[in-house]
Amino acid sequence: MNLPILNKDLSTLITEDMSTDEFIAWTLTRFAHQRLVLTSSFGMEGCALIDMYAKHGVPLTVIYLDTMFFFPESYKLRDTLIEKYPHVDFVNRGTDLTPDQQAKKFGDKLWERDPDLCCRLRKVDPMYTVMGEVDVWITGLRRSQSATRANLKMIEWDWRYQLIKISPLVKWEREDIWAYIQENKVPYNELHEKGYPTVGCTHCTKMVPGSTIGEYSRKGRWSDMDKTECGLHGGEGI
Ligand code: SF4
Repeated sequence: MNLPILNKDLSTLITEDMSTDEFIAWTLTRFAHQRLVLTSSFGMEGCALIDMYAKHGVPLTVIYLDTMFFFPESYKLRDTLIEKYPHVDFVNRGTDLTPDQQAKKFGDKLWERDPDLCCRLRKVDPMYTVMGEVDVWITGLRRSQSATRANLKMIEWDWRYQLIKISPLVKWEREDIWAYIQENKVPYNELHEKGYPTVGCTHCTKMVPGSTIGEYSRKGRWSDMDKTECGLHGGEGI
């Protein structure tokens, strides 16, 4: 591994006055020779970010973790994105553990009895495997998504995965993302039109009555449980 910078305050490398596009261009130049991936769970932010990076016309790897419990709308969106962005490599690095194998080993409906274990098996452990092969990780996280994301930096060292984490959308609001999606004709998950502000597994994601498409809310995630995050972001979820 050839990391350019270790254990420094990486945010001093840039200024947040840069436009998002300037920052994206800078990341592509600065980390051109590192193993760089963008992760997406096929929510609105991820789609916008894929489009922003794809506009630069350089090869890009997008990693997604198929839990095998995605909504049909998410698989449909994945196929649409693959068709729209031929120079983007969409790679599934989800678990090999099938739902049947999980039920045999851990019992039926693990997501109801022990959702943390289910998330670990189907999201967190596969994510650690992927991140161990990566130098620079691009995320669609935004500061206003939750209190745990309020201090996100555009670029920072991620101690959990031991890599450089880049979050170009930290300053964006959900309504800005939605406006970008519309203006740039970016494919987006049809679940958002059906009352799902965020996108997750079928078992743990519900529609939020009264929500509007440009409004962010995590109310539909694990709504019957004392759980708010899947653990991919160290207490923050996607
Ligand atoms: S979101 Fe639910 S179904 Fe998906 S991995 Fe986590 S507990 Fe399992």
